[in-house]
Amino acid sequence: MRSACISVKLGIRERLSPSCGSNMLSCWLSRLCRGFSTPTGRITHLSRGSLSRTLVLSSQRRIPEFSSFVARTNTCGELRSSHLGQEVTLCGWIQYRRQNIFLVLRDFHGLVQVVIPQEESAAAVRKILCEAPVESVVQVSGTVISRPPGQENPKMPTGEIEIKVKTAELLNSCKKLPFEVKDFVKKTEALRLQYRYLDLRSFQMQYNLRLRSQMVMKMREYLCNLHGFVDIETPTLFKRTPGGAKEFVIPSREPGKFYCLPQSPQQFKQLLMVGGLDRYFQVARCYRDEGSRPDRQPEFTQIDIEMSFVDQTGIQRLIEGLLQYSWPSDKDPVVVPFPSLTFAEALASYGTDKPDTRFGMKIIDISDVLRNTEVGFLQDALSKPQGTVKAICISEGTYLKRKDLESIRKFAADHFNQEVLPVFPKASRNWNSPVAQSILEEQRSGLIRLMEIREDDVVLLTAGEHKKACSVLGKLRLECADLLEARGLVLRDPTLFSFLWVVDFPLFLPKEENPGELESAHHPFTAPHPSDIQLLYTEPEKVRSQHYDLVLNGSEIGGGSIRIHDAELQRYILATLLKEDVKLLSHLLQALDFGAPPHGGIALGLDRLICLVTGAPSIRDVIAFPKSFKGHDLMSNAPDSLPPEELKPYHIQVSWPANSEAEKSSLNQPYCPES
Ligand code: ASP
Repeated sequence: MRSACISVKLGIRERLSPSCGSNMLSCWLSRLCRGFSTPTGRITHLSRGSLSRTLVLSSQRRIPEFSSFVARTNTCGELRSSHLGQEVTLCGWIQYRRQNIFLVLRDFHGLVQVVIPQEESAAAVRKILCEAPVESVVQVSGTVISRPPGQENPKMPTGEIEIKVKTAELLNSCKKLPFEVKDFVKKTEALRLQYRYLDLRSFQMQYNLRLRSQMVMKMREYLCNLHGFVDIETPTLFKRTPGGAKEFVIPSREPGKFYCLPQSPQQFKQLLMVGGLDRYFQVARCYRDEGSRPDRQPEFTQIDIEMSFVDQTGIQRLIEGLLQYSWPSDKDPVVVPFPSLTFAEALASYGTDKPDTRFGMKIIDISDVLRNTEVGFLQDALSKPQGTVKAICISEGTYLKRKDLESIRKFAADHFNQEVLPVFPKASRNWNSPVAQSILEEQRSGLIRLMEIREDDVVLLTAGEHKKACSVLGKLRLECADLLEARGLVLRDPTLFSFLWVVDFPLFLPKEENPGELESAHHPFTAPHPSDIQLLYTEPEKVRSQHYDLVLNGSEIGGGSIRIHDAELQRYILATLLKEDVKLLSHLLQALDFGAPPHGGIALGLDRLICLVTGAPSIRDVIAFPKSFKGHDLMSNAPDSLPPEELKPYHIQVSWPANSEAEKSSLNQPYCPES
């Protein structure tokens, strides 16, 4: 029987290997498995025999047992030659079937080949395995056997063995799918979100969520077991907090009274310090009623931390240790301490408070070199008291096409109303405009010296007030990096994780909608810099704060501050400087008066962090059930309408905007997701 099948099998095996995604799978599997490390950060190597024996999760070196308490004896992905002869029971989804001879079974751990029995006596088993549609869930029992010589699939981690089935049970059949579950089949994001439970079956989503779980586990270990933190849950039904982000409002049964969902557990964690719980942490869900962006969504998760009797350096060292400890061991280790820039330095060199420090192209002030320029717009700027000329040197910028430089100039004009001039101080190729040619020879050599310009570099010049000139060049720096990378250069090493502390932020910023008034740069509980306290009463806009942000590869992944623990100072800042209603915070102000210890904290954006670690394109790829770009749950259609009688207990009614007939009539309509 066996020999009769071999010629058919050979052909099938050859075709099976590329299409079964085994390359991708083994890559995924080893990434995941290398993600489990010993607490000391040593890499645990994957032995071929048993995956579970090699996974070390806790300081006691306990090993996760993937098949305890359940119907299976092993996972599909763990079987190797060392299991030969073992009787196993596997549960999984049908990934492929080939000519009713092989079936590839999948679970989170990987793929395994099952040989469909051809003998007459196994007709019932064959019927189940041949008729069940792809993605049906089945349980098979049989023996681990080696594949015939020459028929191994080295691209598949389980490629040396196959399962000779004795019994099979169809646990549940799968109807026609809206899309193929296989990772390599492209799907729109809307479809993935509508059928999220199917999308979660992909190896990529399995990897992202499992890596997230591992990192959180290690963080808990580090904080609770190594440093005595206490994990405390705080309420999600809360009230409005003055200042900060927009909150979601929840109606209550008391007329005119509303809860708010907390934008963060900020007040509670400070109150815990007053309560003597002096090392708090929580994996906290936070809510902000802001539009979704690739790195934001209305509900998100923070690793929220607060400590008493700590200063800024103490918090920074804690976070560096936390990230080092929880970092996946398949990535380069985290090097500590992280470098640090002041807010002013970050703005001057990178035009932003979240610089991507994986590459150079820093902003340089070239006002002195061009002091006597004849270029009109530069001259104009330098004649003003706050006027400056700034530049970035795009290394190997001659790789950019003329149309790239045109698009850069247009971007600056459209978004910042700023003129930008590209010059090629050393290039043999010259696309200089007549304006650029009026840069004098001595200015050209001055620029080459100051900016260390090389043959293929392009310089982008702009002029104006310091902050504006820096902001535009900061944006262009990133635009140029994108354009150069699109032309095949690598500026940002994808394996590099470049952490940076940004410190010494201003305590207040002018309000966007009314620049005559101040708002908190972080939040109103942030303490002023000790050396600037007096300025609070004279020039508050000049006060620096004890606020620190953690930046990774150009994204803000954390922020925190040392807090005000003096009730009088807190009241002065809220009432006099921020013009907030202090009654809303009377509980906190009172608590500060009852022996509040000095304290400070930080919150890490878990979704953003995991997104960067996994290289996912959006935070939605590291959240099991995310909201769509418009803040909707495309699977369940939340938010949803409620009939007026259900709103009555809350004493509210919908005031429908004009032209909302469609929405009104959708009250009883079946749901149709966003496209
Ligand atoms: N609660 C702050 C936030 O959510 C972080 C902090 O100051 O600890 O941004």
